[in-house]
Amino acid sequence: MKYQLDHQDIRDGVWKLCLDFGSNYWQNCDRNRSYPEEFVNALTRSGYLGALIPKQYGGYELPISAAAAILEEIHRSGGNAAACHAQMYIMGTVLRHGSEEQKEKYLPGIADGSIRLQAFGVTEPGSGTDTSSLRTTAVRSGDRYIVNGQKIWTSRAEHSDLMLLLCRTTPINQVKKRSDGLSTLLVDTRKIPESQLIIRPVRTMMNHSTTEVFFEDMEVPTNALIGEEGMGFRYILSGMNAERILIAAECIGDAKWFVEKAVAYAKERVVFSRPIGQNQGIQFPVARAYAGMRAAELMLKEAARLFDEGGNPGEEANLAKLLAADASWEAAEACLQTHGGFGFAEEFDVERKFRETRLYQIAPISTNLILSYLSEHVLELPRSY
Ligand SMILES: Cc1cc2nc3c(=O)[nH]c(=O)nc-3n(C[C@H](O)[C@H](O)[C@H](O)COP(=O)(O)OP(=O)(O)OC[C@H]3O[C@@H](n4cnc5c(N)ncnc54)[C@H](O)[C@@H]3O)c2cc1C
Repeated sequence: MKYQLDHQDIRDGVWKLCLDFGSNYWQNCDRNRSYPEEFVNALTRSGYLGALIPKQYGGYELPISAAAAILEEIHRSGGNAAACHAQMYIMGTVLRHGSEEQKEKYLPGIADGSIRLQAFGVTEPGSGTDTSSLRTTAVRSGDRYIVNGQKIWTSRAEHSDLMLLLCRTTPINQVKKRSDGLSTLLVDTRKIPESQLIIRPVRTMMNHSTTEVFFEDMEVPTNALIGEEGMGFRYILSGMNAERILIAAECIGDAKWFVEKAVAYAKERVVFSRPIGQNQGIQFPVARAYAGMRAAELMLKEAARLFDEGGNPGEEANLAKLLAADASWEAAEACLQTHGGFGFAEEFDVERKFRETRLYQIAPISTNLILSYLSEHVLELPRSY
């Protein structure tokens, strides 16, 4: 199969690292819903998780295309980078909008793995996709913010030292634009008493270490504020293109895994005295999934190229995420169908990867919301909400 392979040395290194974490490892984590601690530690030790951190803070200062290659290879090998991917893009908010003091305090630790920044508290049960309606408040009181409210789907909160938290600092009825008056706090959760920060795991259809989080008069020092008060929504948005590109890369990795797995099985499985892969009914869905993956891969490369040139490729990043998530889902379906009943057996990994890749139609942004972005911002159709 012909792939667009850049950063081959990085890909080889990641692939080699992933060989130590095979099917049994991921199946065990999935079965027990346990955090893949050993894998995340190995990835951190190798420096891959600090790929995007500038050299002055101890990172490798690599382009986003390299970070995409890292995540893609993890997924192509059958693993799941969801346990740690957010660190790559959350860090960007601190890098772009944090003070020099915050960067010096946290980035070297994130780069060497002594500090984890993997929790991103944006979504709330009451507001969902309508982020500007979020209800968690941070009220200034001397040198502290007092935070009250609730988040849902705050993934990895139990495995992270820091949490980037979006909350309202100016009431919605006192701002001109609904997206004004939101602020971003970099909360050091190690220093918060349990009575102020309650984290409850939410069991989901795949292993994702996600949680719901409750803030009860949680005291956060004002020096945890990133950038200017009231500008938090913009800071979060500024990281969205990177997030879309990196998630698209995971989807491409998944799609490749599904296609390779389906092809191998179709050649080997004999029914009616011939390999099932000889039947066009088996070939065509896999061939179509491969075509979808290759097209999405090109859009991903284009989005990464524009991003690495210093652009702000909203259209291409959204297109890449949309097409790659569709490609991985189509490939998942073709792979499961090719495997027949064995696709449902845990030991084949297909059902696990099938569940894992389904997420990307919903998170970190749902397909509808990407279509809505394209309709409004690219096609200039009237705003629908
Ligand atoms: C496993 C998992 C991990 C996650 N991790 C994180 C995390 O770490 N941090 C975090 O902050 N969030 C996280 N999320 C939340 C995720 O980003 C949201 O689930 C996602 O953005 C969708 O929001 P919602 O679930 O509130 O859906 P809703 O906003 O309730 O929407 C429900 C459905 O309606 C559709 N819809 C809503 N409005 C419109 C519209 N105007 N037009 C068309 N369709 C519309 C949506 O597309 C969606 O399909 C996670 C979610 C999951 C499931």
